[in-house]
Amino acid sequence: MPYVHETLEALRRSSPAQTEFYQAAEEVLECLRPLFERSPHYLDQGIIERIVEPERQIMFRVCWTDDSGKVQVNKGYRVQFNSALGPYKGGLRFHPSVTSGTIKFLGFEQIFKNALTGLPIGGGKGGSDFDPKGRSDVEIMRFCQAFMSELYRHIGPTTDVPAGDIGVGAREIGFLYGQYKRLSGRYEGVLTGKSLNWGGSLGRKEATGYGAVYFAENMLEARGETLEGKTCLVSGAGNVAIYTIEKLYELGAIPITCSDSRGTLHHARGIDLALLKELKEVRRVSLAAYLETHPEAHYIPTRDYPNDGHAVWRLKGDVAFPCATQNELIEADAEALLGNGVTCISEGANMPSTAAAVDRFLAAKVAYGPGKAANAGGVATSQLEMAQNSSMQQWSLEKVDAKLKEVMTHIHCQCADTAAEFDDSTNLVLGANIAGFRKVADAMIEQGVV
Ligand code: NDP
Repeated sequence: MPYVHETLEALRRSSPAQTEFYQAAEEVLECLRPLFERSPHYLDQGIIERIVEPERQIMFRVCWTDDSGKVQVNKGYRVQFNSALGPYKGGLRFHPSVTSGTIKFLGFEQIFKNALTGLPIGGGKGGSDFDPKGRSDVEIMRFCQAFMSELYRHIGPTTDVPAGDIGVGAREIGFLYGQYKRLSGRYEGVLTGKSLNWGGSLGRKEATGYGAVYFAENMLEARGETLEGKTCLVSGAGNVAIYTIEKLYELGAIPITCSDSRGTLHHARGIDLALLKELKEVRRVSLAAYLETHPEAHYIPTRDYPNDGHAVWRLKGDVAFPCATQNELIEADAEALLGNGVTCISEGANMPSTAAAVDRFLAAKVAYGPGKAANAGGVATSQLEMAQNSSMQQWSLEKVDAKLKEVMTHIHCQCADTAAEFDDSTNLVLGANIAGFRKVADAMIEQGVV
């Protein structure tokens, strides 16, 4: 269809060097071709040109002073991508690799992910190239305060509600919230992922990881299987990876790997979850320290890994959970996984598989849950936190978890039903993109040209 091709070409020209954003847009638009053939009115309404353009992009300077008294300068971003379904919603990422293109790709994915949850939330994302690694708590606080000193004027509980992402956990959300309250004079649900003592939701911390496991369960169930007894490969060692591992144990599976930016850990009898939490949530040290307690485990430093790709994906397992970062699973990794008998991949991270790797999974017709569907449990539970804040309530963990499970099943059904509607029943990428897009596009049309 020339129209999709022309839009992508225009995007390539207008967003030079934003390769991750282009990759995300290409995946979505290519999937929409069969929809446009059946429903050409989306083209008449210019929906795809409108949907790839953020409603607003905010870029700002963040100046702060480090512990030695030196002034540091970082870049801050917030992309308010699409508000057709509700207030902008999406996390903040603090990582040295962050550019405006990274935030645009994450914000774009967020539009469709949020739509799939069925909850009233639009898509947005933000962050900074600030590197929290090796910084003292006081430096983190000063950075968060400086970041919020600009961001606070652009957000609000009914306009834009940020949350965490890579490098932004409970500690950072606390500092950001404190500064928002000081500047605005208001105590309101403007951030999610807050501490349980002051407006947070039970189950939010666990939600993305638990949700990715529930999604895997749904995919396996559709094929007459369960997670029980399955060996699982997990990448990452942050929020999403830790709670993926926790839920896998609860369901009787055996997670044998995790990884961080410095290396991969392989423990054949199963990852020691309490130790992993201690290393990453409390001490914030490298996974290499795991061997002090478990010398029988294997640690593969990234710099020593001889192959292209990621050591996690070269081990033998039944189910894979990429939970670290974008493009961490390349075509050669996909080949290795399929060769080793993996039959199910559920993405906890955003766009962790390259386009070529996704093509391999789809061609093999294994159960493949793309991030925008499989990791939507985090944002869904963030919306539940917003609902609790606005009604001044705190729900029980059981209630939040039951709702999370329900949302993940709903997302899986939408993806599977839409894939079947378009005669490609195992293709949940197609299902997720068409189902998410249709919901947003219909709302945009109903709201007029704005
Ligand atoms: P964390 O910061 O808690 O953890 C990220 C993990 O990934 C760390 O172990 C980190 O290692 C590793 N990592 C980060 N960048 C790289 C890299 N370039 N190469 C190798 N490893 C890397 O982040 P989250 O767990 O919150 O997020 C992980 C993924 O899940 C991201 O893609 C995020 O967008 C996505 N996601 C998160 C949600 C949430 O609720 N938190 C919601 C939906 C999606 P190290 O510690 O060494 O830096």
